[in-house]
Amino acid sequence: MALREYRCPKCGATFERIIRDADDEHKVACPECGERRVRRLISRFAAARASNNAQRAEGCACGGSCACGRP
Ligand SMILES: [Zn+2]
Repeated sequence: MALREYRCPKCGATFERIIRDADDEHKVACPECGERRVRRLISRFAAARASNNAQRAEGCACGGSCACGRP
């Protein structure tokens, strides 16, 4: 479970969501305009954890279809 921050590229809104599993990640949508292709913002704290996890995780835990910024 993680608190993640997102930014909507359509209306510019930023918002936070508590993500418990991959399903939650896929259900994230902008609260202002409903846009689903929101971008996940990486905080310094999250980025530091991600680099630690990168060595043992081959891909994104979300399955690759999210907006977390990984190819
Ligand atoms: Zn929006």
